[in-house]
Amino acid sequence: MSDAILVINAGSSSIKFKLYALGAGEALDTVFSGVLDGIGGDARLKAKDGDGRPLDERSLDKGAAADSGAAQKIVMDWLEDRLGGHEMIGVGHRVVHGGPTFTHPVVVDGEVMKTLESFIPLAPLHQLGNLDPIRLLMKEHPGLPQVACFDTAFHRDHPELSDRFALPRALYDEGVRRYGFHGLSYEYVGGALRRLAPEIADRRVVIAHLGSGASLCALQGGRSIETTMSFTALDGIPMGTRSGAVDPGVILHLIEQKGMTAHDIGTMLYRESGLLGLSGISNDVRTLLESDDPRAAMALDFFSRRVAQAVASLAVSIGGLDALVFTAGIGENAPDIRRRVVEALAFAGLALDAEANARSDLHVETKGSPVAILVVPTDEERMIARHTRALLLAAGEGG
Ligand code: ADP
Repeated sequence: MSDAILVINAGSSSIKFKLYALGAGEALDTVFSGVLDGIGGDARLKAKDGDGRPLDERSLDKGAAADSGAAQKIVMDWLEDRLGGHEMIGVGHRVVHGGPTFTHPVVVDGEVMKTLESFIPLAPLHQLGNLDPIRLLMKEHPGLPQVACFDTAFHRDHPELSDRFALPRALYDEGVRRYGFHGLSYEYVGGALRRLAPEIADRRVVIAHLGSGASLCALQGGRSIETTMSFTALDGIPMGTRSGAVDPGVILHLIEQKGMTAHDIGTMLYRESGLLGLSGISNDVRTLLESDDPRAAMALDFFSRRVAQAVASLAVSIGGLDALVFTAGIGENAPDIRRRVVEALAFAGLALDAEANARSDLHVETKGSPVAILVVPTDEERMIARHTRALLLAAGEGG
């Protein structure tokens, strides 16, 4: 039997899972990965092996994954049938909110669970979905350690200047803070920089995590100093379907003049805005890049300008810029978006090597560019697996 760590990333309508075998030294080899999506509707399960070869793809019986508990059970049954010679020694979970409390991943026990539940009001949809599988596994596999890894933790030692809104002080004490998200991605990419471009890793770096959710983070000495998302994952730049920052007066207008409810406005800001709202066509950058509709071009220009503005604004917080790093679905795979962003930063001397950019090389800047520009793939699941292994090892040594 060889030891393995399961990573679970459970959202409101999907559960992503990945099994890593612990290899020699620090090695973590992917055994398989999969996703069950469409929870509550037409659910499907899809999985591939460590080399990306399809393992399974099926539609589930109607109602089989009616809620997250039922879906989790299906995933666990599927997993247990395919563990082969692997023994699960712990499960790492992506948990969106660690509140003001958690600055690092944590092994979950009853007390920790209560604290995590107290953060549900900070991220109602996500936090509930993240905690369900932990609760279920604690019940069904009481001896199996569960580790919670937070999207917020990497940003938790932000200076006060980055952590506040200009709102009455009492709200800050009640937890209304600029938490920031995508921390596992920034931590992974920051770590990868140490290996791939060590001369840059500790300098003034802005990482642009551009996926269906998108944010940017300024780092110095490898630590997060400021980030564009704040109290919720709505703030900052526009995303696939999320608005990014809007004048708070618009929200007041929608309530007072149009009689919209909090629920209506939430749906609009989370699901109907961003690239989808701007273009009226799609939330997917691939579709927008292929379209010759001027609204698609406008949406992409808007997105790229906001990303470039965020880079410039974050550079203020770290006193300049030595490297700009693109990551996640759009950042890694859309040379044309990188080109638009960097063109908007040409005033600061940033310049792309067109061929290197088209190939998505590690370094995509021109020789003369005063700022390094890199493309570094992110891997949040691997970051969770690393944290989980480290905590299990520490617990083993301590006990
Ligand atoms: P998440 O993990 O948040 O769901 P990803 O990081 O996978 O998101 O990013 C998904 C987005 O990346 C897609 O919505 C799409 O817009 C974009 N994307 C993926 N591949 C490409 C590509 N080849 N060209 C342009 N955009 C892409």
